[in-house]
Amino acid sequence: MKAAVFKAPGKPLSVENVNDPKCGENEMILKVEQCGICGTDLHASDGGSMEPETGTIFGHEFSGEIVEIGKNLKTSFKIGDPAVSLPFISCGTCQACMNGNPFFCSTNMQSTGMSPEVQGGYAEYVRIGLPESIKIPNGVSWDFATLVEPLAVGLHGVRVSKFKQGHRALVIGAGPIGLATIQWLRFFGARHIVVAEISEERKVMAEKMGATLVIDGKTPSEELANIYQKETGGSPDIIFECAGIPTVIQNCLEIAAPFSEIVVIGVCDKPDTFMPFLGIIKELTIKFAIAYMKDDFQFTIDMMEQGRINPGQMISQHIGFDSLATTFETLKTSKDQCKVMICPNH
Ligand SMILES: [Zn+2]
Ligand SMILES: [Zn+2]
Repeated sequence: MKAAVFKAPGKPLSVENVNDPKCGENEMILKVEQCGICGTDLHASDGGSMEPETGTIFGHEFSGEIVEIGKNLKTSFKIGDPAVSLPFISCGTCQACMNGNPFFCSTNMQSTGMSPEVQGGYAEYVRIGLPESIKIPNGVSWDFATLVEPLAVGLHGVRVSKFKQGHRALVIGAGPIGLATIQWLRFFGARHIVVAEISEERKVMAEKMGATLVIDGKTPSEELANIYQKETGGSPDIIFECAGIPTVIQNCLEIAAPFSEIVVIGVCDKPDTFMPFLGIIKELTIKFAIAYMKDDFQFTIDMMEQGRINPGQMISQHIGFDSLATTFETLKTSKDQCKVMICPNH
């Protein structure tokens, strides 16, 4: 099959023919309809602590059609079913898996698109595990199906937080994860959804996705807290850190009001420092969130099916293999795009 392969940090992805994935007993093969390019892939490809092995095929935000089902597998999935999958291959039987939380599988869980063990969706076909897979109902488009993964990240962040309807929220960063978080905050009835963002394009996106106020991301903490107070009549109950870059947690500690919560969703793999004293004197809670549970996927799909969430505007472009490598390089520096979808079979 055709796939875009990671070679080395700083090198463009190489589009080449590779072996088709082999379907394990408890697995299925998906013919990839679309796969989103994620900031994590861009970041990992530059090396550092997330650097993947040479030969890795990225892609953990994919949708497609079932083309093969593992031998003797008892399942209601049929060949031709549209489906998505959490990007993990887990055991499906341990406590965490039974609880729908395969990220915490206790037996050698493998992440899709992070190593050659389980290749990702920048390819014509991808191998998925049965316990992590979910059918896409009629009426949910491929575009929406492919956005389930990033939306589920935002949903999970809101679900693990102390958020309650009527709360005031502040979202730092309006990349795809910030935009997903904004949509769920609106869905669940936040009183104010104030967003701090640097990029002009993303500021516009934040407004489209439901921000009630957008503040320039370069605004110093004290000034930002003052604007928040003036515009909303209160201070944020929860700050969602969706930028994933060093110094932002310190900024959150500076902005946060006493007893409030900071939820860290943005993925930062660099050392960072903050002043604990700031958190102590305000009795702050810092909560970290990782990925999603299976129900975060299912709930997102259900809400899409019912037309209650509409993330279509997050997609800025569809591309094929011909422009994949160059687009991938461009996305490393340009922040004016949101989700770019790869269509490997078109
Ligand atoms: Zn991602
Ligand atoms: Zn497990």
